[in-house]
Amino acid sequence: MGLRKELDTSLSQELTAIKSAGRYRFLRNIETAQSPRVTLDGREVVLMCSNNYLGLANHPRLTEAAKKAIDCYGTSASASRLVSGTMTLHKKLEEAIAKFKGTETALIFNCGYMANVGIISSLLGPGDVAFSDELNHASIIDGCRLSRAKVVVFPHKDMNALENLLRNEKGRRRMILVDGVFSMDGDIAPLPEMVELAEKYGAWIMVDEAHATGVLGERGAGTVEYFGLTKRVPIQMGTLGKALGGFGAYIAGSKILREYLINKARSFIFTTALPPADMAVALEAIRLMQEEPERRQRLHHNVKIFVDGLSSMGFDVTNQGTAVVPVIIGPEDKTMQMSEMLLKHGVFVAGIRPPTVPPGTSRLRVTLMATHTEEDLSLALDAFAQAGKELGLI
Ligand SMILES: *Cc1c(COP(=O)(O)O)cnc(C)c1O
Repeated sequence: MGLRKELDTSLSQELTAIKSAGRYRFLRNIETAQSPRVTLDGREVVLMCSNNYLGLANHPRLTEAAKKAIDCYGTSASASRLVSGTMTLHKKLEEAIAKFKGTETALIFNCGYMANVGIISSLLGPGDVAFSDELNHASIIDGCRLSRAKVVVFPHKDMNALENLLRNEKGRRRMILVDGVFSMDGDIAPLPEMVELAEKYGAWIMVDEAHATGVLGERGAGTVEYFGLTKRVPIQMGTLGKALGGFGAYIAGSKILREYLINKARSFIFTTALPPADMAVALEAIRLMQEEPERRQRLHHNVKIFVDGLSSMGFDVTNQGTAVVPVIIGPEDKTMQMSEMLLKHGVFVAGIRPPTVPPGTSRLRVTLMATHTEEDLSLALDAFAQAGKELGLI
């Protein structure tokens, strides 16, 4: 047997096991931009699972900014920022992010995954302790693993448990890690209590604002702004690829933190920097978001309509005013059936299964956009009603 054959045989055995567990993943083909209506495998459907919360991902001002940046600065940063890649736009974008977040400085990473992996693994090492909510994003989990620090996981938002752990788990450096808005549940972290505990026990705290940026807070700066904690949270991390309609990520914090990460974060040091077009898009998105706060209001309005609609049909939904509305189904197979059924009725919502969420909590993770029209929403609600009845869920 040739090497390739051996490899394929071994891998396909595992794929068969994944399939029989109902956890098989495959890619669907979207032929249009990430707007409320997309062409999916040749058919027009309502898109209800994109993180393009403010509808900026194909806004003419952003696409224009990208084109201009390419004309002006080319298509690539061509090296790590420490080698030859720090360009004017990196500096401009970092200044804009710091201003937006209310921090001294910011530092761009190539994506949120790389930011979390780089930040956590450079701030913590052997002998240190990471305190991590059980529903934190996979990139935080992977950052913890890579750091080789001791990782203590506390039950979701359980502040008594966190306090006990902070009291008992000693280490050289200690850091609490939390999603501001939890990506698969859409609920908000109890940041005021967490910051209180961090201060009381002398631990650092990092908040991941991936799903809160553009959505929560007076200016859409995220959960830290929402709770008025800008001065007390030393590390804010976020992405440019969700509500901001672009690609990339950042940390926002002190000058020293930035300087430290430039020297220590391997996912910053050993990678080609974000290209000009992505930075121009993010700069324009931050501007546009400030000029048009009504986008955020529209998003919240759409969330309310959708949540009220689903609740009145008898679906089990909760929402705290974020763009993420989880509809918990439970078993993997039923979740995927529901997703298929919704697609038949013209609505695309991907099913979310373990290991992304805990076993037995598979769900349809509905996300709303500011640009969904009333017609989009009523079509989607009708689809949920029909599919839910066909599967005996409501
Ligand atoms: C999406 C997400 C990330 C990763 O960000 P990318 O820029 O997409 O790599 C990190 N943390 C959370 C909570 C996320 O939802």
